[in-house]
Formats: sequence, structure tokens, C-alpha cells
Amino acid sequence: MRPSFHPRLINDPFSDPGLFIPFLFEKRALLFDLGDLTPLSSKDLLKITHVFVTHTHMDHFVGFDTLLRIFLGRDKTLHLFGPPDFFRHVEGKLSAYTWNLVKEYKNDFKLEVNEVHPERILTKIYVCQDGFQDQELVSSRPFSGTILEEQSFSVKGVLLDHRIPCLGLSLKENFYVNIIKERLKDLGLPVGPWLNRFKTAIYQEQDPQSEFVVTWKEKENATRERIFILGDLAEKIARISSGQKVAYITDVAASPENCKNIIKFTKWADMLFIEAAFLDREKETALKKYHLTARVSGELAKKAGVKHYRLFHFSPRYKNRAEELEEEARWAYERAE
Ligand SMILES: [Zn+2]
Ligand SMILES: [Zn+2]
Repeated sequence: MRPSFHPRLINDPFSDPGLFIPFLFEKRALLFDLGDLTPLSSKDLLKITHVFVTHTHMDHFVGFDTLLRIFLGRDKTLHLFGPPDFFRHVEGKLSAYTWNLVKEYKNDFKLEVNEVHPERILTKIYVCQDGFQDQELVSSRPFSGTILEEQSFSVKGVLLDHRIPCLGLSLKENFYVNIIKERLKDLGLPVGPWLNRFKTAIYQEQDPQSEFVVTWKEKENATRERIFILGDLAEKIARISSGQKVAYITDVAASPENCKNIIKFTKWADMLFIEAAFLDREKETALKKYHLTARVSGELAKKAGVKHYRLFHFSPRYKNRAEELEEEARWAYERAE
């Protein structure tokens, strides 16, 4: 099975949190959290279309400038999502700079900023050519868990308690079309952008009897094409599977309410990225700072029935002792019911 998304933590577990989620066969990516983005190349940064910020503590938001810097001067819209009060924090970032020359920019860069409230999502658009001036609301839509819904996936959010509202996030593929590479080879078809068109046709449930044209470029830029019947091609080269679920939980207190919500929200995830800031013996500190311990993280992963989990956001006090956190979570995961 080959999922369409390959999420990876941007930094080591002692550095800023952030999950980079590139799409397979597409120059596109999502981002959960906006901490230090230094390890991402410009090419990777430019793939990002949607950013979901759990909360605006500095370690989760300091990468905003890096992203803005690289998108300036491009004809793009960057979509940002964050918890209540997010507009004010984005506006604070934008107002830190001088924008007197942007009127002359030929391109049309925009920031579409969304504030996720318990029952509504509010949207504002900040336009580069206008110097990112404070804007009126452009929309207010009901929210009941789904933040973003696209043809092949959805992103859900839940507001958790970090002494401020903090978003838990998940990404779920609706179902995915798995391409069998060997079959492509047998048919003499190269991989390429046509595979996206092919997947889109399947996701949109186009008539299996309709024609599908496979096109690709050969050396010297000559375009080649072959015509198939969509259903026949699907039978030959694809396997359709239920999509993977990836969840991301960080900066939350181990309160009974949070734990209940986290288990429900991350239920049956294929992969759970979860913070483990402290060891159980420092659980008083963890509670005071509204963070999880490795033990609680392991227990939550087990109770939610997740297939795999990855720990991150370790407190610097455990530098060179990461295995103690890993060990404690593993022990709790194996023990929990
Ligand atoms: Zn944090
Ligand atoms: Zn925090």
C-alpha cells in the first residue's frame, strides 16, 4: 500500500514542532504548525498551499516570516488556519514590516486567513498589493469538525486546552488510488502528471467506459499519447484502498476532558504524531505547563487504537536522554487497555 501523503516532522524532537505533508506525484504540500522551517528547501516551501497552526506560541509560529518571505512576489494564495484570535497574531506579524513598495508588484499574492472557533470558521483575506491592510470578514461558515474538505482528503480540527485554545489536527484520505508501478512498466507507461489526472478521474467517479488519454513527454520534448478505456486502465494499473489517517496532537494538558477528546479525535489513526514533553516523574511540571508526559502519550495512542505513533516536542532538559521518553511511552502503550 502506498498512501498519497508522506508526512514528516521538520525538525528533531528537541526542536520546533512542525509536520510537512507533501503529496505524492504533485507539487503540493500541507503544513501542520509553523515553527522553525530552516530544514525545508525553497522548493519544498513553495509546495505549501495550506498551513494549520495549532496555536501561536513562538515555537509553533516563528516560521511565518520564512514562509511569507518566499511567497512574496508570486501569484499565489496561501491559506492559513489557526485558533481563535489568529487574525490578531497574523496582523501583528504583517504590521511588523514596511510595505510601501508592494503596490508596484505585478503579481497578486494573497493570504487567506481562517480563525477556527468552536462552532464557526471566520475568514479574512490580506492582499499584498494593499500592503496587507486589516480586512473585513469575507465569510463566516459553520464548523462541526471539518476545517478543509477537498476531493481526495479532508482536514479536521478539534479545540483542546493548553490554557489557551489549541488545535488538534488530522488528515484523512477519502480513499486512495494505489498505482502498481510494475504494471505501468508492463504497459510501457512512464510515471508523470497524467497519473494525477487519472486519479482525479477515479475520485470524481467518471464513467469507466469513457476514454482516458495518457500523455507524456519524451526526449527532445516530443509528446506521446495513448488512449485507454478508463475502467480497463484502472483494472490494470490501480488498486483502490481506504485512505490513511494521520493525526497531530501537541501542547495540551493531560486533563480528563482533553484526553477524552484526543482519543475520540485520533481514533484508529494509521499514524499519530504526539508530543511527549516530560517524563511521568515530572508530571506536576507537565500539568503546570499544559503539556503531556510520555506515559500519557503512550496511553492515549493505545486507547485510540492507533497503528503507529511518533513522539516529538521533548523538553530540552532530556537532551541526550530521548530514549527515556521513548521507553516510557512504549511501556505505557503496551500496558494500556
Ligand atoms: Zn510548543
Ligand atoms: Zn504551546
